[in-house]
Amino acid sequence: MKTELENDLTRLFKKEQVLTSKEERICYSYDATNKNFLPDAVMLPHSTEDVVKLMRYAHQHKIAVVPRGAGSGYTGGSLPIQGGIVVSFEQMTKILHLDKEKKYALVEPGLITQQFADHVAQFGLLYPPDPSSVKFSTLGGNVAECAGGLKGRKYGVTRNYVLGVEAVLSSGEVIQTGILDEKDESPYDLQSLLIGSEGTLALITKIALRLVDKPQYENTVLATFDQMEDAAEVVAATTASGVIPSVLEFIDGDTLECVLEYVRLDDIEKSEAVLLIEVDGKNKEEVDQEFEEVLKICKEKKSKGLQVAQTKEDKDNLWKVRRSISASLLKIAPTKVNEDICVPASQLPTMVKRIKEISEKHRVNINTFGHAGDGNLHVTFMCDSRNKEQMERVEKAVDELFKHTLKLGGTLSGEHGIGVTKSKYLEWEVGKEGIGMMKKIKSAFDPDNIINPGKIFS
Ligand SMILES: Cc1cc2nc3c(=O)[nH]c(=O)nc-3n(C[C@H](O)[C@H](O)[C@H](O)COP(=O)(O)OP(=O)(O)OC[C@H]3O[C@@H](n4cnc5c(N)ncnc54)[C@H](O)[C@@H]3O)c2cc1C
Repeated sequence: MKTELENDLTRLFKKEQVLTSKEERICYSYDATNKNFLPDAVMLPHSTEDVVKLMRYAHQHKIAVVPRGAGSGYTGGSLPIQGGIVVSFEQMTKILHLDKEKKYALVEPGLITQQFADHVAQFGLLYPPDPSSVKFSTLGGNVAECAGGLKGRKYGVTRNYVLGVEAVLSSGEVIQTGILDEKDESPYDLQSLLIGSEGTLALITKIALRLVDKPQYENTVLATFDQMEDAAEVVAATTASGVIPSVLEFIDGDTLECVLEYVRLDDIEKSEAVLLIEVDGKNKEEVDQEFEEVLKICKEKKSKGLQVAQTKEDKDNLWKVRRSISASLLKIAPTKVNEDICVPASQLPTMVKRIKEISEKHRVNINTFGHAGDGNLHVTFMCDSRNKEQMERVEKAVDELFKHTLKLGGTLSGEHGIGVTKSKYLEWEVGKEGIGMMKKIKSAFDPDNIINPGKIFS
């Protein structure tokens, strides 16, 4: 028998835009955390008007609405933890406008980030935000999480490329910010609030994105080390030297070993730590000079091997190490608890030591890698969610990890957001007053708490 919700939604939208069978709903019940919540229905909008219609209906009936991109989030942002309607943007994937001279594009939120980057690259343009999930995550999800990525240190994160957004409020009203309406003089910066709001304030239906010229020269090296701390020292010393690599990725020895068992890369030796470093720019001489400086620092900090890419094939091979991490880790254990702390680059050596101590103290398996160039480490606890005793130890280790991070002047989330998995820790970072102010902002946007309820605040 059809539910009232199903009847209403199929009356408002085309049949193929509404999914209600259990099998279909299961497909929208998970993300990259280990949690599942079944929505009551899934709706696939084709336009802003569809989203407006849905929000008016949800507002009238006080039904929870959860926006969803590709469901690749690591903190549960797209999970319908109180049921309701999941709004999946998978059919809003158009590039509506590309201005090659002014270097910006207007896109729909469901477009996969890599597909957008590939499209603009044909015209010599670069969309720099490059999360490791670039091949499957969406631009809407990236904006809602303010995704970072491999090029964050030099090029910044998603926020730095958003010129404007169109968003639908809980009442069904539409707001526009930035260049969508050609005026950006408003006293309260709504756009900044929406970027990184984790789908809790409004549903983003259009995004204007800034593009830059593609750099013409790129030099890549994979540096290996006998000590993790030496690699962390290179990151700190590179930052201090003034050279800003476009990529500066850290990978610990256990993770490297796992990758090397997963993909065959004969030329790469096992070691305690690895840095993948890339320097790019428009001027060959400058790029070469900066690269030489990076190689010098690696040598000074006791790198035992420097593999410099001479050809595109070499470069692809070096990149394979980084791109294969996520899949290869699942060999160690079935459950991945991936925390994305961020500390100032000068504190990386200390943080790396603390992570080792936490791993030993709580007898938990930790793999550490990440965008070290901007202080962002993915501290990944490999475990088995069916083992209750082990999961309790992981939880204690995570608590301790966050305490050390804050003590070193860092932040709980470099890029994955708070969602449900980190909500109990947010107050440690922003205090009671900070939480109070955030709650007021949430209720100004969404007084009935129907957009993505149960997130961010514990
Ligand atoms: C292997 C792997 C590697 C990753 N690497 C990185 C990385 O390097 N850097 C990084 O930052 N993240 C990374 N992530 C995390 C994740 O990919 C990002 O958070 C990404 O931005 C989520 O995009 P999505 O389309 O999957 O969004 P979802 O997971 O579906 O949703 C994420 C949040 O955005 C909201 N949302 C989605 N679309 C909209 C919309 N149109 N309007 C309003 N709210 C919306 C959702 O409600 C939710 O709160 C990684 C994840 C995986 C699995």
